Amino acid sequence: MRNSAAESQPLRLRLLMYVTIKIILFLTLLFLVDRSLSSPIKQNKTKVLILGAGLAGIRAAKTLLDRNITDILILEGKNYTGGRIHAMKFTNYTIEAGANWIHFVNEDDTKPFLERKEARSVRVHTYNYSNIIMRDEDGKDVTDFAVVREFDDKVHNKIEEFQEERRTKNFPDMPARVGLQLMGWKGKRPIERAIEYFELDYEFAKPPEEVSFYSLFVSGEEFLVPDERGVWSMFEDLSKPLEKKTISGVLAKDLVTLEPALPDWKKEAIYKIPLSTYTKIYLKFPKKFWDDNEYILYVSKDLGRFPVWQDLSRPGINSVNSGMLEITVTGAEGRRIEGQSFNETKAEIMEILRKVYGEGIPEATDIYYHRWSKEPLTQGAFSDPVVGMTSKDWENIGKNLGRLYFAGEATSEEWYGYMQGAYLTGDKKGKMIAENIFLHEPISKPGKPKSEATLVKVTIPGVFLLSYLHSLLWN
Ligand SMILES: Cc1cc2nc3c(=O)[nH]c(=O)nc-3n(C[C@H](O)[C@H](O)[C@H](O)COP(=O)(O)OP(=O)(O)OC[C@H]3O[C@@H](n4cnc5c(N)ncnc54)[C@H](O)[C@@H]3O)c2cc1C
Repeated sequence: MRNSAAESQPLRLRLLMYVTIKIILFLTLLFLVDRSLSSPIKQNKTKVLILGAGLAGIRAAKTLLDRNITDILILEGKNYTGGRIHAMKFTNYTIEAGANWIHFVNEDDTKPFLERKEARSVRVHTYNYSNIIMRDEDGKDVTDFAVVREFDDKVHNKIEEFQEERRTKNFPDMPARVGLQLMGWKGKRPIERAIEYFELDYEFAKPPEEVSFYSLFVSGEEFLVPDERGVWSMFEDLSKPLEKKTISGVLAKDLVTLEPALPDWKKEAIYKIPLSTYTKIYLKFPKKFWDDNEYILYVSKDLGRFPVWQDLSRPGINSVNSGMLEITVTGAEGRRIEGQSFNETKAEIMEILRKVYGEGIPEATDIYYHRWSKEPLTQGAFSDPVVGMTSKDWENIGKNLGRLYFAGEATSEEWYGYMQGAYLTGDKKGKMIAENIFLHEPISKPGKPKSEATLVKVTIPGVFLLSYLHSLLWN
């Protein structure tokens, strides 16, 4: 049942089920293919088809493998494994295009990451967030920790109590900006706005006007992972055994279409968790000329314009001689930057840096940022719910449709946006699929391994198989 487009391009997959582009981009989809399908295609050996070799897909596959379910095929549109966890070489240094921090290191759900970090001696760096300087547009040091304390007193230290109080009274969600105002934080002066940006936009990747008040949280302890091997090296024990079951570059320029359409309740839940844009601009200079602080906050009248500068030329991150600086932009500004050339962005940044540090500073020799919002298979950095998202929506986003399962960070009510969300939902859905398989085929139980599907045989048939699923999914 291939359509003509698929016939003309064998690697293009058009699934005869409809799924919106968003799902593909936000979530990892796990397809459980019924072995008992009466398909005319001989090579229907792939029991489980996983779409996407990001952390969720790889975790799900490894969970299945650990249960002796070996008939797995992973299709990945990009030419590497890891999805939004992606280290790259930039000049002589390793940079992370995507995830770079292990957040909430004291939470139980983070333990698998910490164990992996320990097992592989992955280098981490802990930040001291008081090592900050604030510079205005003329380069004047305008650091004012009294404003930071004011934010902490009015918002940071009270937010959970305030949210709880409203929830107990069944008050509906509202934009974070309204909540901040109710809590007495106005955030009007440039310095207040710069600090508010560092506390909120820098975490949520969009302005408080767009963030759900109930989704605001107090950050836990965290590590930066500056290890040369990259963040993904922590997960190689998962992906290595799956190398022969992963086909990269499939659908690289295509998007999946599932028919019939997803039910409205599923679509609604997906639309409620859009991706935010978080753009990390890496710059390389011949030498360091900026302040010797972990962070430099740029206090501009133009909020959001290159607001956070992170000194990567520090012991524990890169060498002091590395000349590496990272500037982060988010939301609409991130989308603007990702839409323009490196040279245009470099020129804008150099103009600002010269005003702050003087005309004598050297020109950046290199610049790089990943254009996540422009990548059809990603479309942004991480998901963040709209105002009014409910637990019911979260339940709906993760709910399977027959044999079609959904995993990925965007499906986790507790951990959306973070690697924990991808890891935990991948593991959970892998277990659910395994249970389903055992239920129908007790012979597959651990201890009785099945023969592995050979890659050559399942490459195309595995794809074809999906075209038979539509009749099974929603009956
Ligand atoms: C700039 C940035 C900074 C971040 N910082 C952090 C951080 O510091 N800490 C943290 O915990 N998290 C961070 N995150 C978020 C974290 O990277 C993600 O939560 C996590 O990696 C998501 O994993 P996933 O498997 O759910 O999705 P993904 O990693 O997106 O995996 C999905 C995979 O599916 C593939 N795919 C999609 N559609 C198709 C298709 N049609 N055909 C074939 N393949 C397809 C994609 O190519 C991708 O490889 C960051 C993300 C970004 C982009």
